Amino acid sequence: MRARAWASILRRSMSLIAVGTLAFDTIETPFERRAEVLGGSVTHFAHAARLFGPLEIVGVVGNDFPAAHLERFRALGIGVDGVEVARGKTFRWSGRYEQDWNTRRTLDTQLNVFEHFDPRLPAAGRRARFVFLANAQPAVQMRALAQVEAPRLVVADTMNLWIDIKRGELEELLRKVHGLVLNEEEAHMLSGRRNLFQAARLLLEQGPRFVIVKKGEHGAFLLGRDVRFALPAYPVEEVVDPTGAGDSFAGGFMGYLASVENLDPATLRRAMLYGTATASFCVEGFSVEGLERVDRSRLEARFNELAALVTP
Ligand code: AMP
Repeated sequence: MRARAWASILRRSMSLIAVGTLAFDTIETPFERRAEVLGGSVTHFAHAARLFGPLEIVGVVGNDFPAAHLERFRALGIGVDGVEVARGKTFRWSGRYEQDWNTRRTLDTQLNVFEHFDPRLPAAGRRARFVFLANAQPAVQMRALAQVEAPRLVVADTMNLWIDIKRGELEELLRKVHGLVLNEEEAHMLSGRRNLFQAARLLLEQGPRFVIVKKGEHGAFLLGRDVRFALPAYPVEEVVDPTGAGDSFAGGFMGYLASVENLDPATLRRAMLYGTATASFCVEGFSVEGLERVDRSRLEARFNELAALVTP
């Protein structure tokens, strides 16, 4: 894309809001261990989506969360008026990656202040047209969504924990969203089907108009009523930490859609490329280190490389 066209996308203020977790993550990879780094589903999502314009986030942190983190969010164009600071500890999650990077084991999840979180959307957020419900309890996702006055596109993410313990709520959520983003294992857990197409078809019957199934380093599939698209992951030379790859994929995908305000099948396919290119920066560092380093021109360059890679 030409620099001028890109600049006009950025000048436009996006109408995007996301709700999810802000966290301290402890991560073990085959090479390294990092304790209590900044993480959370909405954190990764926002650091990706902000590449397309400003957005608002909704979540909760404890009083152990440094104010400097929230200032940094603001400096990057991530509005934090919807982030509540509650008495208690911030959500914590820890996970370990096996040698193949594709298998991740959750070692611990501590909901802490997130357990009784009641999301309150700031006025600008209630008017948002694009809504991303990042990984969180489905009841929290639905309470946030209920406050948005006239959403044009609502996409939700989820995780094995919620499929295990909140399946009823999750099925209710599926009836209220246009898009669902989940990984292969979660698609299997939720639908009972191993075959990707069968799993997606069953999930589409439950409400959403499209489902995106992420397959880690093997890429992502978009399956909708009138669109089908598959894309490999961008081949990163050195993976440092895949945590947040799914959320930053969603951030690139939704950020692009919110910036162009279009949902036709060709735009959805381009959004898949933006999601994939954005996620590739996330895995190049721990926490948000990889995403913080990116600017528009590097993202555009990777988008073009990926487009060239999949064009005959
Ligand atoms: P991803 O690698 O895209 O699946 O996202 C990982 C991020 O999600 C980490 O930064 C965690 O803090 C956060 N996370 C992990 N488990 C949960 C959960 N059950 N609900 C919400 N967020 C979570």
